[in-house]
Amino acid sequence: MSNLLGGALSNSEEGSGDEPSPERPESLPPRSKRRRFAPLKVANQIPKRRRKEIEKALEGSTGTPKKWSRQNGPKNHNFLKKRILPGTIRRMDFDLLSVEIGESWPIPVTVVHGSRPGPVVTLLGAVHGNELVGPLALTYLTGPNFIGPGKAIDPEVLSGTIRIVPVVNMPGYKMKSRYMPDGRDLNRSFPGKPDSNTSYRVANRIWNKIIAGSDYVVDLHTAAVGRTNMPQIRANLAHASSNRIARSFGIEAILDNAGPKGSLRRVTNDFDIACITFEGGGPDELDPESVQVSLYGILNVLRSLRMIPGHPSRPSFRILASGSLWIRSDQGGLLDVLAPAGSFVEEGEVVATVTDPESPLESHDVISPTRGLMICSATNPFVTAGTPVGHILPVTKGAQTIRKRLDEDDCLVISGADGDPVWRDDDEVEDITVGGEWSGGSVDAEWSTNPPTDSDEEAAEADPSQ
Ligand SMILES: [Zn+2]
Repeated sequence: MSNLLGGALSNSEEGSGDEPSPERPESLPPRSKRRRFAPLKVANQIPKRRRKEIEKALEGSTGTPKKWSRQNGPKNHNFLKKRILPGTIRRMDFDLLSVEIGESWPIPVTVVHGSRPGPVVTLLGAVHGNELVGPLALTYLTGPNFIGPGKAIDPEVLSGTIRIVPVVNMPGYKMKSRYMPDGRDLNRSFPGKPDSNTSYRVANRIWNKIIAGSDYVVDLHTAAVGRTNMPQIRANLAHASSNRIARSFGIEAILDNAGPKGSLRRVTNDFDIACITFEGGGPDELDPESVQVSLYGILNVLRSLRMIPGHPSRPSFRILASGSLWIRSDQGGLLDVLAPAGSFVEEGEVVATVTDPESPLESHDVISPTRGLMICSATNPFVTAGTPVGHILPVTKGAQTIRKRLDEDDCLVISGADGDPVWRDDDEVEDITVGGEWSGGSVDAEWSTNPPTDSDEEAAEADPSQ
């Protein structure tokens, strides 16, 4: 097996399961010894034929292109008709539409051009306007905690160029909508057309001005309305440079998928530009874990491309998946999710219940058909028969390894989520004392317009802190 695959594709039978193993043949060394030589990996879900395709695609991949050689010396970076000097940062606006009158939808772009040659990495948020993890993570990334002398991204030390676009679909963002104002999905419109509908025109300008000159693209998303995602990477693993940054992102779940027609991921790969999609959290919310994990991941990618100093961090295991199972409700009513995104569940485990106000005596369980990791779960409680409740990666081997990284609710602690927030210095965290008293006599009294009930008062008396 090619070690370009990081060993993670190997069918590591040894020590990877917690199932009672059949009698061990005499010739094998004790389990602990074997484990040292065969690092524990979760069984892959990528079928043999696809593994061969991926291996073949990686065979031809070579080292650093000549254009990134340090011997070439620093060069200016040309972007949006501006010349950006080595070792500098430029902040500018890019118009999504080229018009003389009317709305041009300017979006902010920050370009950090390193003093040394290297790849061009483009980081995108809110291609879907209501997916806010990207905008917040990338706004942090453009700020003084990340960029500047001695910081993670120091233009004087940086090799290559980073283009940061926190909000791509600005009109959608302002409307709190996934879509463009013409109702189309920008992430199904690439590479676009200059003389077509609004979304295609915008896609085409983004394509020509921002994407086409990139070597690597990291596109930050969340789940769509009504669901939430465990932080995960999606990439076409048979595209060599996409495979590289997918693994170097440093999180546990990588879904091998080329992306839908017209999506940035698929089209960039068609033009041999590397692209990965990060997914974490849901729309219209800011999942702090996903923001943190995405920032760690981006720094890991930049480190592994040797653009910034330091070693990328690695997860303790990696799931490379080419398939999944949907868990659906067989009943209609209101969903109570017991195993949210990130949960590790057993076969037969109740992952949610469905009840119906019109049939209050009945409750139906939604059962997981397999042991696995829930990578997505429903947040909209209204379900009808057939509505997806969860999206699960079946795990047949390596459950023990995964369990080591579960929290007390059996949810996976994603690599990077358990570190300190990377955008906050400790001296920024201040202890603040708040004086005064609780309005209405207790912490929650003001939530209700009714006077406190006897039991509220009793509770307040029993516990003076309430
Ligand atoms: Zn999205």
